[in-house]
Amino acid sequence: MALDRFGRSIHYLRISLTDHCNLRCVYCMPEEMTFRPNKELMQDDEVLLFVRLFAQLGFDKIRLTGGEPTVRVNVVELVRSIASTPGVRSLTMTTNGVLLSRMAHPLAEAGLQRVNISIDTLNPEKFRRLTRWGSVEDVWDGIHAAEDAGLTPLKLNSVIVGGYNESDAVDLVRLTLDHPWQVRFIEMMPFAGATDLQLKRVVTARDIMACIESSLGALQPVNGGNLDGEARLYRLPGAQGDVGFISSVTKPFCATCTRARLTADGRLRLCLLREGEVDLLTPLRAGASIAELRQILLDGIWDKPWGHGLAEGLIPLNRVMSEIGG
Ligand code: SAM
Ligand code: SF4
Repeated sequence: MALDRFGRSIHYLRISLTDHCNLRCVYCMPEEMTFRPNKELMQDDEVLLFVRLFAQLGFDKIRLTGGEPTVRVNVVELVRSIASTPGVRSLTMTTNGVLLSRMAHPLAEAGLQRVNISIDTLNPEKFRRLTRWGSVEDVWDGIHAAEDAGLTPLKLNSVIVGGYNESDAVDLVRLTLDHPWQVRFIEMMPFAGATDLQLKRVVTARDIMACIESSLGALQPVNGGNLDGEARLYRLPGAQGDVGFISSVTKPFCATCTRARLTADGRLRLCLLREGEVDLLTPLRAGASIAELRQILLDGIWDKPWGHGLAEGLIPLNRVMSEIGG
């Protein structure tokens, strides 16, 4: 088991499979984004070696993210290999859903269990403005394909950006009336690449909730108001699905955080909102033994931080979000 110095058991790994993406969400990356050359990114055999190493240390839950994980060449076969790694009990993906209409079934067949799909508005024009060129119809088709392929229960992720989609939270929450989906609102966090917009247009979970309740009535706490993973869950009376709020900025969930991240270029990142990273790929490529890599990993996990420094102006600027893996 991998423990940190606060006694947290760390067993959930989020892997950014690529920093590349087929969209350019305004809150995630600049339009003229420069991606890393392929040789700097983890290759399939390197991803699999790290997965085995993490699994041997008790990591039983893996989420594939990015960038956009579905644009990675050979992603279905990679999923198949990860799914069959001893110790991996949960294998999920966070995706923008654009390619899911054709990939949901192959991914499910390869062993992917569930997907979280990002959709910030149901309005086609607003969706295009937020993603710079995306089509909300593609995502909608992806959502249906994911359901059809059994990648359920579905979670839909939304980032609310002031001046772009504040009022759209209400329409997204209405979806829970007729669908057993969890619609989650993630507070916008600041990183490199879009820092100005991220700082100026953040809408707190509290404000999003107030906006939803003023249109749809009171949300009832699910789970006694306790965290479910990183989200606080609520429900509209009579709804089939839940509404979640992930208040990473205003109410961080450090006490229950069990996660570590592997960046697309093979760095271990222990906190999304802290710049500290431990390089795993360079030692691997320099010939480090498995025992040496395991020790680097355990030492890194031991030092996992607690709390972010946003209130003190400490913004993590060494990465854009897509490299870390949201
Ligand atoms: N491309 C995939 C997607 O969009 O779902 C996976 C990667 S994306 C970085 C993972 C999640 O992070 C998405 O739900 C996205 O909305 C969210 N995200 C991106 N930038 C963010 C930011 N600055 N603050 C909060 N969430 C962000
Ligand atoms: Fe791409 Fe996801 Fe970032 Fe949007 S949030 S630009 S879909 S990586």
